[in-house]
Amino acid sequence: MSIIYNFSAGPAVLPKEVLQQARDEMLNWHGSGMSVMEMSHRGEEFMSIAAKVESDLRELANIPDHYKILFLQGGASSQFAMVPMNLLRGKSSADYINTGQWSQKAIEEAKKYCAVNIAASAEDAHFTYVPALDEWKINPDTAYVHYTPNETIGGVEFNWVPDISQVMGGKADIPLVADMSSNILSRLLDVTPFGLIYAGAQKNIGPAGLVLVIVREDLLGKSIAGTPTMYHYKTHADHNSMYNTPPTYAIYIMGLVLTWLKQKGGLAAMEAINISKSKLLYDLIDSSDFYQCPVAKSDRSRMNIPFTLKNTALDNEFLKQAKARGLLQLKGHRSVGGMRASIYNAMPYEGVMTLVSFMKEFEKIYG
Ligand SMILES: *Cc1c(COP(=O)(O)O)cnc(C)c1O
Repeated sequence: MSIIYNFSAGPAVLPKEVLQQARDEMLNWHGSGMSVMEMSHRGEEFMSIAAKVESDLRELANIPDHYKILFLQGGASSQFAMVPMNLLRGKSSADYINTGQWSQKAIEEAKKYCAVNIAASAEDAHFTYVPALDEWKINPDTAYVHYTPNETIGGVEFNWVPDISQVMGGKADIPLVADMSSNILSRLLDVTPFGLIYAGAQKNIGPAGLVLVIVREDLLGKSIAGTPTMYHYKTHADHNSMYNTPPTYAIYIMGLVLTWLKQKGGLAAMEAINISKSKLLYDLIDSSDFYQCPVAKSDRSRMNIPFTLKNTALDNEFLKQAKARGLLQLKGHRSVGGMRASIYNAMPYEGVMTLVSFMKEFEKIYG
């Protein structure tokens, strides 16, 4: 099989070493005679896998003990409801920053539970930038502030963590909530400014079916009346994510991904690689009139890079020739058009180099 590079936005590429190890351990994990898929989640073997995943994550991101790590299901989309259900804590409104399609989905769901104040929005410029912090209009009585650090579809990423107490003149204790589905573990992470972080696994940490939640302990146990047992964070926190059967195989693969990340030098090393990978592609786009990226330079995503061809009539030819070169899944989201290259942690540098040389050649012929 010739080399292919998969630029899918999600489910997305996994490190080849991880897939190879999963293959080698498929039928017989560490001499147990069982596949991880066949193990009881309460058995010694799987408990040891899950414990190591948690301790490796704590080590990689330096997560303090007063944050709980939860392994849930239902996708990041379920978190759009779980967040207000659990974090309203008697308040009647929540603040949201609207930077694109995933923000909007979170907002629409939250409206079922509370009044939503859009504290800042980039809708005026088709979601091509991040609104500056000094323009945020935070409601002093909000239950929390929710934002999307990386908009997977629009390719807009926060290169800073909002300091809410700064906006409020230094006095606020308002939990910050982040949907990190598409950039978690792609850069250094300090969880301490956050009340809660959630992320679907299928972009940067493993296979679909697993959602990671990192939540500050004091926020637990205050969910609204009628919250189903499975939608209480506390249910899962109290049972080490083993209240019911967790997505065991997805947790195992996430563990292999974390080991791989540690071998690569951890989050600082990964961030440096991601900076150089994305720069390679942005530099090409910016040096040509043939390709364009609509996103403001300071707010461009290192993970999802949308770009258009000046002549959109060439889109199909571009995709066809890219595919013939082993460059897959470059078609942009149906709502945006054009192309999108998702270059998560597991996309090797060579993959981006191959894409960039193909783009240069294509421009030479059709530009
Ligand atoms: C993919 C994605 C989601 C949705 O994830 P599901 O697991 O499909 O529910 C939510 N937010 C962001 C930022 C995403 O990239």
